[in-house]
Amino acid sequence: MTKAAIIGSGIGGIATAIRLAVKGYDVTVFEANASFGGKMHQFDLQGYRFDAGPSLFTLPHLVDELFTLAGRNPSDYFTYTRLDPITHYFWPDGSRLKAYADAEAFATEAEQQLGVKAQDVQEVLARSARLYQGTADTFLHKSLHRLDTYLSADVLKALGCLSDLGLTTTMHDANAKLFNDPRFVQLLDRFATYNGSDPYQAPGTLNLIPHLEHNIGAFYPKGGIYSIASSLVKLAEELGVAFRYNERVERIVTQNGRATGIETSSGRYSAAVVVSNMDVVPTYRRLLPDQPAPEQTLQQPRSSSALIYYWGIAREFPELHVHNIFFSQDYKKEFEHIFRHKSISPDPTVYVNITSKMEKSDAPAGCENWFVMVNVPHHQGQDWEQLIGTTRQAVTDKLSRMLQTDIRQNIVCEQVLDPLLIEQQTSSYAGALYGSSSNNRMAAFLRHPNFSSKLKGLYFCGGSVHPGGGIPLCLLSARIVANLAPAVTSVNEPKQH
Ligand code: FAD
Repeated sequence: MTKAAIIGSGIGGIATAIRLAVKGYDVTVFEANASFGGKMHQFDLQGYRFDAGPSLFTLPHLVDELFTLAGRNPSDYFTYTRLDPITHYFWPDGSRLKAYADAEAFATEAEQQLGVKAQDVQEVLARSARLYQGTADTFLHKSLHRLDTYLSADVLKALGCLSDLGLTTTMHDANAKLFNDPRFVQLLDRFATYNGSDPYQAPGTLNLIPHLEHNIGAFYPKGGIYSIASSLVKLAEELGVAFRYNERVERIVTQNGRATGIETSSGRYSAAVVVSNMDVVPTYRRLLPDQPAPEQTLQQPRSSSALIYYWGIAREFPELHVHNIFFSQDYKKEFEHIFRHKSISPDPTVYVNITSKMEKSDAPAGCENWFVMVNVPHHQGQDWEQLIGTTRQAVTDKLSRMLQTDIRQNIVCEQVLDPLLIEQQTSSYAGALYGSSSNNRMAAFLRHPNFSSKLKGLYFCGGSVHPGGGIPLCLLSARIVANLAPAVTSVNEPKQH
């Protein structure tokens, strides 16, 4: 059988493995860690379960599609519920808002709580839908780096909404033009963080993101986000995919302009197709040291990273839900701290995710599992020990103030994740969550393609390459790779070394 080797079992690597197995490849996934999932892993701490990385799940049909493709019924493996409300928002002035899943209910709530016009809220969601529908087929579903993409009807569709694309304005300016209320602008600007960008620099095109959450929906998978990875690994194994854990790939083997396999400390493995799910920067620097690297692409500014405090909380907070946002007073300053000063604002926006709201077994009775996250710069030599301490103080002060209770007294156990640890655990360059940032209007075109233009048989998937980071885009990268990989009947097997 024609062999495919996949480097890494992040969500992009797992999805690619399934797609290539369905296509008839004999697939082996090599994973440096002791288990699968990469950023999407879970852990237990004194009776509390935590999803370590991603917490918000959109476009679930991209997961279902993998089961259907393999001839399975998705709900036999993986189920999820639509969240309503999606997020509870809190502002420093005491105002609060529940972002309901239904557009009309959300618009009414925004009018009642913030005084913005309900009709304007509905219009902004409709604009977001138009942006997404006009651009997704060109910018997200296909390789941007192949001529046939530009010769398709989808490009005409994208050109049709050129005036709506927001390429000449920033996300923030586009939102501030529509709303006078700085709180609602802040709510809309926050969507830039979904791919690690700065709303004051990122193009208005990113205003398509609210469509995913507000029009299509945010979902909670039964068993937590980790169940996305675990159910897909189950499927992959049923399809014959082999997972080799604790086996770090040290080199991609090349011969006569082709990738012909990989090398680990246990030896060489020949493959007709090699897919790297490792971050593209270390893929070139460590696995292909003798190959010319695409420097302009690799030197694109990285996305933001995260500082996370996982807290076991010894009581319940009825005013909180699964997703909760506690905004900062000055959002612009907060992003200047992250992207200009490479530091953390003394008044950061704080995100609190509580899965025990959906899954009681994630925390002991009467308690909650809090995943408390602050957006921070990627690693550029900062003193994280010091930043973890000062930010913990700022976060506990802020939550205590906004929830009117001393939160410190309720924290019974803690674990912390910082950009250095993210890099250590997943090889993500500088601990960036989403590869390169989307802070300029050419960013989409400057992400690394899903294939190598120099080495035949070498492909790339995952959050550091096209179309971008986050679960849905990683799943789309797998779809693009599988479409680009040749049919097994047309592959010439590489000679054994
Ligand atoms: P990764 O998860 O980066 O995994 C790569 C895998 O490759 C790792 O397992 C690593 O060990 C392995 N590997 C690397 N090098 C080698 C090698 N040489 N040999 C063998 N194996 C190797 N996304 C969302 O959609 N919603 C969210 O709410 C969200 N929040 C996030 C919060 C945090 C704290 C983090 C960290 C990320 C978040 N994301 C979110 C982003 C999302 O988690 C990632 O985009 C996605 O999981 C990345 O998947 P990936 O396929 O790129 O692989």
